Amino acid sequence: ESFQDVDMGEIIMGNIALSRYTRPTPVQKYAIPIVKSKRDLMACAQTGSGKTAAFLLPILSQIYTDGPGEALNAAKENGKYGRRKQYPIALVLAPTRELALQIYDEARKFSYRSRVRPCVVYGGADIGQQIRDLERGCHLLVATPGRLVDMMERGKIGLDYCNYLVLDEADRMLDMGFEPQIRRIVEQDTMPHKEIQVCLFYNSRDLLILARDFLEEYIFLAV
Ligand code: AMP
Repeated sequence: ESFQDVDMGEIIMGNIALSRYTRPTPVQKYAIPIVKSKRDLMACAQTGSGKTAAFLLPILSQIYTDGPGEALNAAKENGKYGRRKQYPIALVLAPTRELALQIYDEARKFSYRSRVRPCVVYGGADIGQQIRDLERGCHLLVATPGRLVDMMERGKIGLDYCNYLVLDEADRMLDMGFEPQIRRIVEQDTMPHKEIQVCLFYNSRDLLILARDFLEEYIFLAV
């Protein structure tokens, strides 16, 4: 077992080595090849299991190897792409600011020297500063649901070219009452990409409703 088993490209592999992850944790060992092969995933995994890298590494490597190119070029051709409104290729939703920041820190670490730029937005903090950061470019967005809806309504974020969706601690997001925001974000006309790849992580609560509504044919993983 090693991170070498799945080719994630030189830059990401270098960043894994820099972060001193020598061996994949069980959830990483199983989830990375699944996500990398573009299948939907529903995974029961606790905090501390290494679940963050389990979804970030394969998604970052896809964005990177697909090139920040493909999706962004499509946006540019349609004349939609600009500095003021960002069109992330991957979206990670998390229930709390703390978790969003942790995911963002990992994303920064793993995207170092790649051309992929991660951003984070969460409630309870100055929105102006988050907007200025977004305007510098955003390929992977980590967000709490309420603040993301706010950003969408202000015309700062478009999910038109989003290919990857991660719902992290999805059961906790439901317990915190974020279901309406999640549904608003994942609506067909907000997120029109036909083959959007979904990774849903949860701790314990029964999530069959979300799974049925948001995932296509998916692989179930419990570690
Ligand atoms: P997570 O479950 O994603 O919150 O990760 C828990 C902690 O384990 C974080 O501090 C990670 O940086 C660390 N971690 C994740 N994967 C590995 C790994 N393969 N080797 C060493 N540490 C890891």
